[in-house]
Amino acid sequence: MAEPTIPASRPCGHCGGTDVFVEREDLCAYQARCDGCGARGPIVEHGDYITDDGRGQEAARAAWNQRFQPPAEALIYPDVMTPALHDALGVMNFQSGPVAHALRAGGADIKRRCEDEQAHVLHWFIQLALRHDEGWRKVVGDEMKRLANAARKG
Ligand SMILES: [Zn+2]
Repeated sequence: MAEPTIPASRPCGHCGGTDVFVEREDLCAYQARCDGCGARGPIVEHGDYITDDGRGQEAARAAWNQRFQPPAEALIYPDVMTPALHDALGVMNFQSGPVAHALRAGGADIKRRCEDEQAHVLHWFIQLALRHDEGWRKVVGDEMKRLANAARKG
């Protein structure tokens, strides 16, 4: 069977290459790989992926995107709280929990304690607030929509 090539939406974190493909490693295991340097994403295994309907590739790509993000630029944390930071820092764990669950379903490596979920989500929100200021919530909304669509397909 020909292996479909799915370009990953994030470039390789090692070499910056954008030629990333997904291989079927086993009956129900998929793994994204960089064609440039051979870097591999996490192996994604699931009984649901026995049927080669694209979900395994999608999941492997999501796992790749979580693990191989390009090195982030340093962010500057302001002395004076901005409204966007105030919003992001004030997120309560009953709000961050569902976000963490959606991210985990999309392949994020988040431990299961509430504290872990809260820390992961706040870290992400604060980065977004620093990068996008008041626009950070829209970025979260867009990513949640993307993950929900991917989950629906899967
Ligand atoms: Zn690479």
